[in-house]
Amino acid sequence: MQSQTSTQELIKELKEVKSIFTNCEKVEPKGYDRELEQQARLDLAISLQMSLDLDWVINKFMEHIHAYFLFDGFAFNCAEPNAQIKYARQKGHSCSYNLHIEDTDLGKLEIFRGRKFVESELVLLENLLSILIYPLRNAVQFKQALKLAHCDALTGVKNRSTFDESLGREISLAQRHGQDFTMLVIDVDFFKKVNDMYGHKVGDDALKIIASTIKQCIRTTDMLFRYGGEEFVVLLGNTDCEKSYVIADRILESVRDINMRVKKQKIELTVSIGMACLNIQDNSESLFNRADTAMYTAKNDGRDQIIVA
Ligand code: GH3
Ligand code: MG
Ligand code: MG
Repeated sequence: MQSQTSTQELIKELKEVKSIFTNCEKVEPKGYDRELEQQARLDLAISLQMSLDLDWVINKFMEHIHAYFLFDGFAFNCAEPNAQIKYARQKGHSCSYNLHIEDTDLGKLEIFRGRKFVESELVLLENLLSILIYPLRNAVQFKQALKLAHCDALTGVKNRSTFDESLGREISLAQRHGQDFTMLVIDVDFFKKVNDMYGHKVGDDALKIIASTIKQCIRTTDMLFRYGGEEFVVLLGNTDCEKSYVIADRILESVRDINMRVKKQKIELTVSIGMACLNIQDNSESLFNRADTAMYTAKNDGRDQIIVA
């Protein structure tokens, strides 16, 4: 019974693979080496099963096909999960494939070469791509699952457990390289009132907008976490106290400027920020405590402001 099910699944998968290449030339071109294709398919099918890591799968595929199909460079881009894998620069000629299974987009693969591609090479490449599809789908899904495990479901920013995992490592790195490092603890002011006045759903939307507003104020190399309910933490690597204050001030102003309206009425959103710059005695706990205490001072002193520890 079980083997019947898996055979049916296999047939379904093969049909799907076939459908991916519906627009491809079916007739083998002159000089096409079917034996070579069979050998390449076997080698690939075995080796691509060995890892779920997306970078590994793509690099392994390209490394393998290079033995059968010479190229100078390639670029793989996938929107979700965000992945860009590149080797060498773009050359004169290119071929590109949008890879997908049914409605699932698996990314775009472009291959570059100074010399023109000939038809028999493209047919071989397309046949080999059909071997890549399922390991690629598994790697894409694995990366998506990892991302979900590290991110907060509501706001999409990194979650508390990722914060706990990352902080010690980031501090050690900064201390080892003698680099500046700053932590901002950010708490939304009177957020309970937002829920009470407009409802929990509007409160959720406000948290999403606040998270994306903070994200826009920092660099892509900085890290933003949702620490708890309406509390966020930002880690600014390689940023001294002065520059960090400018960023914190930008966050303060940008949140104040959020134009979120319910029945034309603007929801007043502000945050209080506690800022602590790493010193040589600091560890994860002391840095967080200093920033958190500073944030509570900002609250007690009237909110909508930054206090430096
Ligand atoms: P303060 O200025 O002192 O920080 O006041 P506050 O009202 O923001 O603080 P308090 O701790 O009293 O309330 C926090 C509120 O945040 C209460 C809680 O319901 C709300 N909250 C926490 N997480 C979420 C969430 O995921 N969605 C929504 N809508 N509200 C949340
Ligand atoms: Mg609050
Ligand atoms: Mg709070």
